[in-house]
Amino acid sequence: MFSIQDEVECYIACINEGGLLPLIGISMILALLMFTIYFKSRKPLTRLSSFVAGQLFIISAIAEIVYAMQCSQMLSIEIYLGYVTLSTAIILLLPRVYYKVLIKRHDARPITEIMDWPQEFVNGLDTKSNVYYYDSAVPRAFASGKAIFLSLGMLELVDETELKAILAHEVWHIRYNSRTPILRQLALMSFTKNRSEDELETLADMFAEKVVSRNALESARAKMS
Ligand SMILES: [Zn+2]
Repeated sequence: MFSIQDEVECYIACINEGGLLPLIGISMILALLMFTIYFKSRKPLTRLSSFVAGQLFIISAIAEIVYAMQCSQMLSIEIYLGYVTLSTAIILLLPRVYYKVLIKRHDARPITEIMDWPQEFVNGLDTKSNVYYYDSAVPRAFASGKAIFLSLGMLELVDETELKAILAHEVWHIRYNSRTPILRQLALMSFTKNRSEDELETLADMFAEKVVSRNALESARAKMS
């Protein structure tokens, strides 16, 4: 019977023989680099692409290891299955917990602490989501998971009708999040000053126009530029 130690020794010897060690090393280093960028970056799109790239380098390293293996296939298969299980769990869970990271990072507070109507407006749109505000002069509005974030700068910049249009836009993102690709859910769904060509953004705008008005949406955008 094989012990784990025998298996590991056999495993390392096999990889050495195959001559793929430098290639595997490079893949591992690149994966590490991507995950470092993922953890350091604050830009949602950079985070998303580095996360995906990191995953791809890990998978290619595993493929190289499996290819280099001549004696025992067992350990590599176990490592591979373990990795797939773990990364799938992370990808499925991350969108559900990421908003909690954002609350901490921005030191966000429930909007009901300063005013009631935005939360009531969102409740009226029939989506279970919570509205938060945070202290920043930069006007920003975005959604993640089931949370909508508004900066104080945004609250000061727009009037009530414009804010309703922004909230409706974000509510649409939250409502249809589950239908968008899982990796897209990791990106923040922001309200930006420029009308986006993206299909999801267009649909979010159409919903906001229906619930509030096109004028409110456009004047909110105009104020941001
Ligand atoms: Zn949007």
